[in-house]
Amino acid sequence: MTGKIIEKIIIKGKIELKSGLHIGGADFGISIGGIDSPVIRNPLTNEPYIPGSSLKGKMRSLLEKVLDVDFETFGSGKNKVKRHECNDENCKVCRLFGSSIDKNKSIPSKIIVRDSYLTKESKELLEKLDTDLPYTEWKTENSLDRITAAASPRQIERVPAGTKFEFEIVYNVENENHKKEDIENIFKLLELVEEDYLGKGGSRGNGKVEFTIEKIAKKDREYFINGNNLFEKEYGLSPKEMLNKLQEILE
Ligand SMILES: [Zn+2]
Repeated sequence: MTGKIIEKIIIKGKIELKSGLHIGGADFGISIGGIDSPVIRNPLTNEPYIPGSSLKGKMRSLLEKVLDVDFETFGSGKNKVKRHECNDENCKVCRLFGSSIDKNKSIPSKIIVRDSYLTKESKELLEKLDTDLPYTEWKTENSLDRITAAASPRQIERVPAGTKFEFEIVYNVENENHKKEDIENIFKLLELVEEDYLGKGGSRGNGKVEFTIEKIAKKDREYFINGNNLFEKEYGLSPKEMLNKLQEILE
């Protein structure tokens, strides 16, 4: 696997929260400002963001479930996770998301999912929000103590519904034969994420999101070397609607 770049397909758009989002930040083992469970923030700006690894991890696990592939257990104890990894470079999961299970034949991830930051508009709106926390809200969730059956309310910090983030996914074309199906899978997975959730507490209604694909750019070797052949097009469509545009993106 040389990892030669044939072309990069760049998908840009917005993620809109349809319900409050909780992606947990560093657990310091202490309650910060009375919040048991803080959200992850950019340490430079203090703004909440969606780590690319959260979206990518959710996409991967949904593809694994849809394709019903075999799972391996990685890590141990509290860090134990089940994930599919194999050394078949035609595997639809591993060729897109990468695999390092075979030390002699690791498969690099073909997609880069960038961290998603607040849009300018959302940042301004959230700055006016009247809570004790910058850019976020509190939600009290009751969890039942399994032993005493007593309700123990916890304060969960969430980014409020209506907030928008910028997102970007870069797909590296390394194998022309995989390109169409991989791009199709990216849009289908974004649609599946919409029917699932991001972050914590999805079954309690948190983390419902909606994607709008605003722009597709294609930068091939010709572009990088000579500055020619840049494909760029504006859309403003849902991931599902983008499936009808595959042909024009791929030609
Ligand atoms: Zn695989």
